[in-house]
Amino acid sequence: MSDCLFCKMVAGEIKPDVVYEDDAVLAFRDINPQAPVHVLVIPKQHISTINDIQDEQAELIGRLYLGAKSVAEQEGIAAHGYRTVMNCNAAAGQTVFHIHLHLLGGRNLSWPPG
Ligand code: 5GP
Ligand code: ZN
Repeated sequence: MSDCLFCKMVAGEIKPDVVYEDDAVLAFRDINPQAPVHVLVIPKQHISTINDIQDEQAELIGRLYLGAKSVAEQEGIAAHGYRTVMNCNAAAGQTVFHIHLHLLGGRNLSWPPG
């Protein structure tokens, strides 16, 4: 997707603050952090929303969580606790249409979210 911001990051055309990368996923710091640790974990393959995930991408979605787990360990928040969130479409506040797992931590998080 040539007009997708996150695909441009995967392609190296835009360089975010990368904290983790493997063959399937890329993780980088959110530009507008909502917590001391706010990292976005994205699949390298373009998927617009949760609604677009295909059965054959099930392993890739699992890889997002394994990436988040690695980042949480690396950032020192794994034992204390953190939250992962993936927004889907406008009512949930999705603004970038390349799926991304928000990893939030480093402070106590209230529930339910707004
Ligand atoms: P959404 O609202 O779609 O769930 O989350 C999109 C996230 O992407 C937001 O938290 C926003 O701050 C972040 N974001 C938007 N543009 C950029 C950018 O250019 N670089 C980085 N690192 N994060 C971005
Ligand atoms: Zn994309």
